Amino acid sequence: MKIICIGRNYKAHAEELKNELPKEPLFFLKPDTALLAKRMPFFIPDFSSEVHYELEVVVKINRVGKHIEKQFAHKYYSEIGLGIDFTARDLQRECKEGGLPWEKAKSFDGSAPIGKFVNIKRFDLSNICFELHKNDQSVQLGNTSDMIFSIDSIIAHVSKFITLKKGDLIFTGTPEGVGRVQKGDELKGYLNNQELIEVKVR
Ligand code: MG
Repeated sequence: MKIICIGRNYKAHAEELKNELPKEPLFFLKPDTALLAKRMPFFIPDFSSEVHYELEVVVKINRVGKHIEKQFAHKYYSEIGLGIDFTARDLQRECKEGGLPWEKAKSFDGSAPIGKFVNIKRFDLSNICFELHKNDQSVQLGNTSDMIFSIDSIIAHVSKFITLKKGDLIFTGTPEGVGRVQKGDELKGYLNNQELIEVKVR
């Protein structure tokens, strides 16, 4: 399986990092080694002194597809969840400045913890509230209504280039409020007030 991540999909977050708004979905990949085994803590890697959390809605692909038309994209997923796109912001800054790929900063081991998945039937996908608490304080509050590119547009775009397979995960971008994690932090993510993910930082 593979993990596809969308960058700059929320205007206020793109602005907080002083990035231009994308004209088409911007994506990058993380390998399966970026997943974090259940209940394992996230260990801050020693190559970064500025690891940031980014809470994101994650879509689980349920069948194989290539060149998926937007109008049929909804047939390719039935579950969503929450994930954290951990980012070594200091390394990412270096990569961006050098015009280099981001993998070093984005795709390291454990950089994509995911939580429980829930059936989409219960939700209006264009109006899902999601929130990250760090040590019981709210640090990110987003709503999918603020996405620049919808889940279906993302699937249509990405599948022009890459075949999607059952079990692939798409991280759909983070809202504003990203920030640093430190050893000892506890992160909890809520989707419409239901806790779906918990990560301890060590
Ligand atoms: Mg992200």
